[in-house]
Amino acid sequence: MHDVIVVGAGPGGSTAARHLARSGLDVLLVDRARFPRDKPCGGIARPGIVQLVGERVHEAVEARIRRHRVFLDGRPVAECRDSALLFRRTRLDALLVDIAREEGATIMEGAQVESVDLSTSGVARVLLRDGTELAALCVVGADGAYSRVARSLGLAGGPLRARRGDIAVRFESDVPRSIVEGLLGPPEEARRGSYFQVGLLGMGWAFPKEGGLNVGMGVGGMGGTDLLPRARRFLADLGLERYAPLLRGEHIPCELLPRVTADRALLVGDAAGAANPMTGCGIEDAMKTGVLAARSLSRVLGRGLEPTADRLASYEASLGTLRRIQHLRGLGLELVGRLQRRGLVTEPWMARSLRLMARFDVDSFVWTDPARF
Ligand SMILES: Cc1cc2nc3c(=O)[nH]c(=O)nc-3n(C[C@H](O)[C@H](O)[C@H](O)COP(=O)(O)OP(=O)(O)OC[C@H]3O[C@@H](n4cnc5c(N)ncnc54)[C@H](O)[C@@H]3O)c2cc1C
Repeated sequence: MHDVIVVGAGPGGSTAARHLARSGLDVLLVDRARFPRDKPCGGIARPGIVQLVGERVHEAVEARIRRHRVFLDGRPVAECRDSALLFRRTRLDALLVDIAREEGATIMEGAQVESVDLSTSGVARVLLRDGTELAALCVVGADGAYSRVARSLGLAGGPLRARRGDIAVRFESDVPRSIVEGLLGPPEEARRGSYFQVGLLGMGWAFPKEGGLNVGMGVGGMGGTDLLPRARRFLADLGLERYAPLLRGEHIPCELLPRVTADRALLVGDAAGAANPMTGCGIEDAMKTGVLAARSLSRVLGRGLEPTADRLASYEASLGTLRRIQHLRGLGLELVGRLQRRGLVTEPWMARSLRLMARFDVDSFVWTDPARF
């Protein structure tokens, strides 16, 4: 029997596994995919990710952004100077799995989890699709937006799709250099800049990647359901319509579940609903929740205690700030949504707000510095 089984080897799961293994526990990290694997994502992260991963993260950096150009329905409205790092998820996630392995976690790839059974005292049983049964003292659910673990434990509440959150699509591909330069400027500039297209009901982006682009579009909870046609229009505006068949999407759960712990189980990352409702970003939040979950769990297991929900309460408590920030952002978005529906959010209003946001430091409201929650 393992000490901990972590289900899902995205940023949340790999980070939790890494820290649990480092504290001396026997950790099995299970994923249905084989790495390197892709994941729909823009791949943008704040420089704070270096604190979370360490200097090795630079091995996976594709570009370093210093400037975001913001357009409102095709017209340039603002330019923000802000640093960010860009990744391809194939490389970043494979690196994070390698780091977890080097810290002592055992990795099991190509293993799809069907359900988790906590009905036997003292054991968390993890059942795989091929009939294999795994056992541990505790399970960490890090299996993303449509978490089987959360559903299996009754923590997800209603259907996951109904949870408040963004939905986003993206394609990532090598594209001719002329297209990259047309959007982002000459080669040197192109590697340092990003392109955001903001509309009244969503946001599109184009990020440079080595030899190509990552282009996508996301809409908030209020954004309606016609994302795909809008994303296709966005690609057509950029002269990229031929890439539309490559668009892939997912939900981004941006509201923490009411409870993220049970007896012998915790949830992290998208499985817990940790992403940022303002930006739709969740890589760093997934990693940070992975660190916090590992800290809480290793304290309990390190003392030879049963990981009951009561004893894992320190993990719930450590998410308090994130919960409050998410709530505030959610209220802000809801307010904008209401004003929109009444026709009060006009293009000039949006343009002025975007210019103001670029001029003043609203950074700390829009982004969460992972070191701070
Ligand atoms: C189109 C799009 C664009 C985005 N852009 C950004 C961005 O630019 N920056 C940013 O920070 N965030 C972005 N996000 C959000 C970000 O991708 C997620 O918040 C982040 O990946 C969450 O990490 P995670 O480890 O919780 O889950 P994931 O990265 O989803 O990892 C979950 C893992 O669990 C595995 N898994 C799932 N089910 C099972 C199962 N039953 N059995 C075994 N394994 C399983 C999967 O194979 C996967 O490896 C974007 C999301 C989308 C959809």
